[in-house]
Amino acid sequence: MSTELVVEDVDLFYGRVQALRGLSLTVGTGEVVALLGNNGAGKTSTLSMLSGLYRPHKGTVTWQGEDITRTTPWDLVRRGLVQVPEGRRIFSTMSVHENLQLGGYQVRDPKDLAERIDAVYEMLPRLGERKNQQGGTLSGGEQQMLAIGRAHVGRPRLLLLDEPSMGLAPLVVKQVMELVKSINDDGTTILLVEQNARAALRIAHRAYVIESGRVALSGPASELAQDRAVIEAYMG
Ligand code: ATP
Repeated sequence: MSTELVVEDVDLFYGRVQALRGLSLTVGTGEVVALLGNNGAGKTSTLSMLSGLYRPHKGTVTWQGEDITRTTPWDLVRRGLVQVPEGRRIFSTMSVHENLQLGGYQVRDPKDLAERIDAVYEMLPRLGERKNQQGGTLSGGEQQMLAIGRAHVGRPRLLLLDEPSMGLAPLVVKQVMELVKSINDDGTTILLVEQNARAALRIAHRAYVIESGRVALSGPASELAQDRAVIEAYMG
């Protein structure tokens, strides 16, 4: 497996608050890598830094062999690095269909776009039944799936997901994780930030546990799921 993303020894500050301390991690092409950790550990900061929203004060980020430490967010999106932020930010007054169309704003061929949207409806029949419904009237789980489906329309190479399970009932969390898995099966590499370690480790190939802005533990997801410290700290 080739290496898609390399984060090396990154420090990140917000003013005087240090959020990341020598953080290093890798993501292989085609992998689902989970980033686990408690509130304030630095998970969202890692994603924001990868999306180009915050610049590291030290360290480098390499994506597909190229240094992207100082690349702008819009350039990264154009090249296929897409983040689905925490809190399902869909366009609530627009229909489900319009939300999905927006995910494909870079797709020039209307037939190609229609096929990609149909593929999302095939993955998520409930959204298909609600094509014309306003996004804001969907349930929390449906909105989360719409946000992920919208990103999938753009066929990113690397998808960054921030806490997709947040606030959802266990059965819905399972459906969201199945969606993430099918998007990965379709060829998208995924970095998945989760507080729900149990759910994330079920679909991830590997995982990192972040504490106070640095990697505390890492390994194959199947091994971390059996690790006593991980079970006690992150699986309740
Ligand atoms: P959560 O799950 O609660 O979102 P997290 O692991 O994603 O936690 P971050 O949001 O990355 O953690 O926060 C890491 C640290 O950086 C915390 O101490 C937080 O208070 C601080 N922090 C995050 N964003 C900012 C900001 N915009 N300005 C100042 N400090 C920030």
